[in-house]
Amino acid sequence: MSVKSPIHSKHYPDSFYVASANGLFEHPKLTEHITVDVCIVGGGYTGINTAIELRQRGYSVALLEVKRIGWGASGRNGGELIRGIGHDATQFKNEIGEQGVKSIQQMGFEAVDIVTERISEHNIECDLQMGYCDLAVKPRHMDELAEEYQDLKSQGYQKPIKLLDRSQIGEVIGSDFYQGALVDMGSGHLHPLNLALGEARVARELGAQLFEYSAAEKIIKGDKPKVITAQGQVTCDYLVMAGNGYIGNKLSPYLGGKVLPTGTYLLATEPLTEQQCATIIPQNMAFADMRVALDYFHLSADRRLLFGGLCTYSGKDPKDIEAALRPNLEKVFPQLKGIKIDYEWGGMMGIGANRMPQIGRLPDAANIYFAQAYAGHGVNATHMAARLIAEAISQQSQRIDVFNDIKHMTFPGGPMFRSPMLAAGMLYHRMKDLL
Ligand SMILES: Cc1cc2nc3c(=O)[nH]c(=O)nc-3n(C[C@H](O)[C@H](O)[C@H](O)COP(=O)(O)OP(=O)(O)OC[C@H]3O[C@@H](n4cnc5c(N)ncnc54)[C@H](O)[C@@H]3O)c2cc1C
Repeated sequence: MSVKSPIHSKHYPDSFYVASANGLFEHPKLTEHITVDVCIVGGGYTGINTAIELRQRGYSVALLEVKRIGWGASGRNGGELIRGIGHDATQFKNEIGEQGVKSIQQMGFEAVDIVTERISEHNIECDLQMGYCDLAVKPRHMDELAEEYQDLKSQGYQKPIKLLDRSQIGEVIGSDFYQGALVDMGSGHLHPLNLALGEARVARELGAQLFEYSAAEKIIKGDKPKVITAQGQVTCDYLVMAGNGYIGNKLSPYLGGKVLPTGTYLLATEPLTEQQCATIIPQNMAFADMRVALDYFHLSADRRLLFGGLCTYSGKDPKDIEAALRPNLEKVFPQLKGIKIDYEWGGMMGIGANRMPQIGRLPDAANIYFAQAYAGHGVNATHMAARLIAEAISQQSQRIDVFNDIKHMTFPGGPMFRSPMLAAGMLYHRMKDLL
């Protein structure tokens, strides 16, 4: 049963994050025609950080958001800040070469540094806490973790990492559900909405114009692209599309066709006692297991267990999120059986067919950039995408090309039929998880 959000949270979801937000600054609606160097569509991490990076390079920027800043996945996610971009860059070796693979691997480390540096440089209060574990559920997951450990070492990953077997795992988690863990002190967890709101403050202070309740309804391509809203218009030299899982098919059928909006959900328990916290998560780390339909969880700053999981492809939320997620929580932590749930919520992540974020330029409009499809691993990658787009626009570097060269399938079947197809594909992977 969810607790109602306070009044200031109008048009945000009823989540723990909204209830504990550091002030929800209201931005104006766009009601006139304006001209800027760069227009950004989407007020999540991708859009906000692109605005920051571009203002830092001297470009004038307007950002349009349908609802509120951080209203999408960026204000609802599990808050796990984890190294790496996409799933196994080596699978794209034929398209981007060995150097390209290495470059994506290194950017997967840089991405976390961008977030932590932004937080410390601008004093963003978002409860950042380092320490994260990948958890093995099956014995074969332990082999995969050992391989990941070696890969990280050979890629020159500098942050402390270590493998824990079943006999050692009590150091980090009070649960018998797992075979072992890979501990990474270079990853961690944070309050995702407060990160988005803090970054929006930075963008504003740098002089970016942020507009809420200003849906981009139409795009007119050309030397000077135009973005039309209900009451206004932005003319720009460059356009950045950052609507991700909420972009839909109408505004850009090309982008909408390559990203599948997929629901995932969270519970926030009532605050636990210090003793309970010390028993279940003694070192205050974040966790995610290695199954396709994974659980992810950590403690909030006020000692609630934030427990996430589930994947839905229908575009509809489960009728009762608590009923769907509680069994998973109690399987991991039987000692919390019957714990009161104070909040439940979910959001849409954008998933692409090959599980590599889609970052580049539209094939028929070189002045229109986009970044989307980070799946459930976007807190860091969005920040890297923002930097790559700003570097490309300012001609500072074309590091973006390594992503632009990766081919991404358009989901067949159109908006109506692609969800059941992906569900069937995921079911196959879930069956494999059971083996
Ligand atoms: C429940 C959940 C849990 C997750 N957990 C994690 C996690 O623990 N760790 C992790 O790394 N990642 C996680 N993710 C993924 C991560 O949150 C996303 O990858 C990331 O937030 C994407 O940011 P974004 O800015 O690209 O998209 P979003 O934050 O979704 O922002 C897109 C914005 O664009 C706006 N928009 C869309 N169309 C238009 C339009 N026409 N005009 C104007 N605005 C428009 C939307 O309203 C939205 O606010 C999770 C996602 C969800 C949903």
